[in-house]
Amino acid sequence: MSDTTVRIQDDLYEAVNGEWLKTAVIPDDRPTTGGFATLAQDVEKVMMADFKAFAAGEKTTDIPEMRYAISLYKKILDEERRNREGISPVLPILEKINALESVEDLNKVAAEFFLKELPLPVEMDVTTDMEDATKHSFIILGPSIILPDTTYYAEDNEQGKQLLAVYADMAAKVLKFSPLSEADQKTFVEDTLAFDALVAKKVKSQVEWSEYFKNHNPMSVDEVAALVAPFDVKKLLKDIYGDKAPQVLIVYDPKAVKEMNTYFNEENFKLYKHWLYVKTLLTATTCLSLELKTLGRTYRRTLTGVVSDPVLEKEAYQVASSMYSEPVGVYYGRTYFGEEAKKDVVDMVKKIIETYKLRMKKNTFLAEATKEKAIKKLSTIVIKMGYPDAVRDIWSKLVFEEDDSYFAAMQKIGEVMRRDNLDKLNKPVDRTEWVMPGHMVNACYNPLSNDITFPAAILQKPFYSLSQTAGENLGGIGAVIGHEISHAFDNNGANFDENGNLKNWWLEEDFKAFKEKTKDMIEEFDGLEFHGGKVNGELTVSENIADNGGMGVTLEIMHTMADADFQKYFMNWARVWCMKAKEEYIQLLLASDVHSPAVIRANMSPRNFGEWYEAFGVTDKDKMYIAPEKRISIW
Ligand SMILES: [Zn+2]
Repeated sequence: MSDTTVRIQDDLYEAVNGEWLKTAVIPDDRPTTGGFATLAQDVEKVMMADFKAFAAGEKTTDIPEMRYAISLYKKILDEERRNREGISPVLPILEKINALESVEDLNKVAAEFFLKELPLPVEMDVTTDMEDATKHSFIILGPSIILPDTTYYAEDNEQGKQLLAVYADMAAKVLKFSPLSEADQKTFVEDTLAFDALVAKKVKSQVEWSEYFKNHNPMSVDEVAALVAPFDVKKLLKDIYGDKAPQVLIVYDPKAVKEMNTYFNEENFKLYKHWLYVKTLLTATTCLSLELKTLGRTYRRTLTGVVSDPVLEKEAYQVASSMYSEPVGVYYGRTYFGEEAKKDVVDMVKKIIETYKLRMKKNTFLAEATKEKAIKKLSTIVIKMGYPDAVRDIWSKLVFEEDDSYFAAMQKIGEVMRRDNLDKLNKPVDRTEWVMPGHMVNACYNPLSNDITFPAAILQKPFYSLSQTAGENLGGIGAVIGHEISHAFDNNGANFDENGNLKNWWLEEDFKAFKEKTKDMIEEFDGLEFHGGKVNGELTVSENIADNGGMGVTLEIMHTMADADFQKYFMNWARVWCMKAKEEYIQLLLASDVHSPAVIRANMSPRNFGEWYEAFGVTDKDKMYIAPEKRISIW
C-alpha cells in the first residue's frame, strides 16, 4: 500500500496511506474508517457473530454474566414490542418531572432522580481522590451542555447556531409523541435552549477540562451548599448516605458551582424543569420505538456526519457489550487473545520502561534528585495486558426481569451501577479494576493509579502481530506503549507521584524547565491548518508530548537491534494513523478532541527525530523537514 506520486519525504502519511485513502469507504453508520476504526469494525464483526450464536442457543460460554448481556441483546432486538409500546415506558418519569412546581419539590426527589441518572442542576459522582489515590471522593460540577464545547456558543459561531437549530427541531419532533399540548411543546423546546445557553456561560471549556489536574478543588459541604442553594445538596447527600455523607466535596468546575444561581434559581425553575423533561425524553428515545430512536439520534448524526444509525442487530451488540463491558471483554480476551502474544507484548512493555529509565538517566534538563523520582515512578508502573483475570461482583448484580421493557431494563442496570459507584465513597480504591474492557481498540494510562492498560483488541495488526517485523511492531504498538508511559510525564501526569497522588515531586527549577518544553510543544502544533480549521496547541499538548515520548523511546530501542529497519518503523507508524473521516466529524474532533488529527500525528512526530532524516534522506528541500534547532524531544 503506497502512493508513488507522493514522496515520502514530503508527506509520510499520504505516501503510505494514499492508495488506501483513494478507495476506502466510510461505512454509513460510522464517522470514520481506517487504523483504529477498521480494527474496531473487525472486532465488532467477530463479536456480533458470537452474540447471534449465543442468542440462538448455538453457542455457550462459562462466563455467567454473559447471560444478562445476551438477554439485553434480545430485548433490544424485540422490534415488535418496542414499536407497540412507543413512548409509554418513559411516561411515568416524564409525568413526575412535569409535576414539579418548585425547587422545593425537586429537592424532595433529587436523590431518586440522581440514582435514575436524570440530569440535575449539578452533576455529581464518586471517583478516586486526586490527593490521596487510595480513597474516593465525591465530586461536583456543572451540567453538560448541548454543543460540543462552550466555544460553539460564541455570537459569531454559525456552526453552533446551525447545530442548535437541528437539536431544537429534533426535540420538537420527539415532543409530538408526548402528552404535552402543542403550545407547551413549543415552550419546552425554547426553555431547554434558554437554560442550556445560561449553563454554557459558566461551565468549563474543553481547553480548561484538558488540564485535569486542576479539577481538584476541595470545599466543605457547608460552603458548597451555600453556593448551590436553593438546590439542597445536603439533603441529597443525606438521602443517599444517611449519617455517612461526605463532609468535603471536590469541586471539579468551580465557576459553574460558584455561579450556579445565575442559571438555576427559584425564579427560572421552569427553564430547568423543561430542560430536564426534554433531556430525559431525548435520552430515553434510544430505548423506545424504532421511529423515536431514529428521531432521537438526528442531532448525533448531524454532529458526526454519519449517514445512518447502525442496523438493529449491530446496535443491540453495541449497547449490550458496553453495558456489560467487563464480562464481554473477558469473554473476548479468553476466546481471541493468545498467551504467546500476551507474553511477547508484556516483554515489550518492560523493555520500553527500562529504556525509558535509561533515557531519564541521560536527561540533560533535570537535576539528579528529580531524575531519581521520575525513575521511581517508571519502576512502579503497573501493566494491565489483554483483559482482567476475573469478572468483578458488580456485573452479576446488573439484573432485570424477563418481561421488563428495554427502557425499564436499562433503568435498572443504570441504577445498580450508580448505587455501586456511590457506595465506593467510603471504601478504598480497588487498583485491580480495569478502566478499559478487553474488546476495546484503545489503550490508556491512568495517572491516579500509575498503570497502563492495553486491551486484547488493540494487540492485532497493524499495531502488533507475531508475523510483523520487530521494527513494524515498535512503530505500531511499541509507539503506543511509549505514548501511554509518556502520559506519566505529560503536562497533567507530571503533577502526580508514583502512587497516583497529586503531589509536587519536582525541584522548582526542573519543573520550570519542563514547562518551557511544553510551551515549545504547544507552539509546534498550534495553528497548524487542517480542513479549513486550526489545531489548538493547548488543547492537544498532553497527547503531543505523549507521541513525542513514545517515538523517542522506541527509536532508542531500534538502535539496539541488529537488523533494525527504520523505514519500516516510520511506515508502520504512519499506517496505524490512517483514517478517513466525515467532514463534520473532522471539525468536531478539531474543536473538542485532546488528540491532534491523525494525519498530523503521523506527519509531525517523526520530524522531531534525527532517525527520520536518516531513514529517508530527508533534507531542507523536503516538506517534512524542520531545522535541528527547532526539533523537540522532551523525554
Ligand atoms: Zn494519549
